[in-house]
Amino acid sequence: MLQAMQRSREKRLEPQFLVDGMLGSLAVKLRILGFDTIYDKESTDSDLMKIARESKRILLTSDKGLIVQSRLSRLPCVALVQRNDAERLAELLDQLGISRVDTSKSSRCSLCNGQLEMEGTDDLARQIYRCLDCHKKYWRGSHWDKLEKLFELVNFYLSSKKGNARG
Ligand SMILES: [Zn+2]
Repeated sequence: MLQAMQRSREKRLEPQFLVDGMLGSLAVKLRILGFDTIYDKESTDSDLMKIARESKRILLTSDKGLIVQSRLSRLPCVALVQRNDAERLAELLDQLGISRVDTSKSSRCSLCNGQLEMEGTDDLARQIYRCLDCHKKYWRGSHWDKLEKLFELVNFYLSSKKGNARG
């Protein structure tokens, strides 16, 4: 019950995404940033559009045909045709009106999009999280340093976009 309430509250405040098969590494980064993100590499274009519409998710794709089809049918869709994930994330956050990457939200499971629960600390005093759905364990290890560098780059791109808008 509480979980259902939290989910519905989340739904109103936070954008949720449906990511097509070509943007798998972006989907992982969105989950790490705590965004509810479905990654779908199986469905056809028309099925993706149907799923996005029914689940009220924003469709993220780099597929030009799918971008055109989504626009024609007025489906919320963000075209992410940039060269790398840092540029794609900056474009997406900018379109959502988000001016900085927020790493303070709790991450979602990068494998299954499940919610993470704090499990405790390990011998090295690292906080360990566990996915409530697939039970995979997480901690902020050396991979996190790399991610933080990427997020800094995203913030840099975002600040230059703001500069462009002003003048
Ligand atoms: Zn999981």
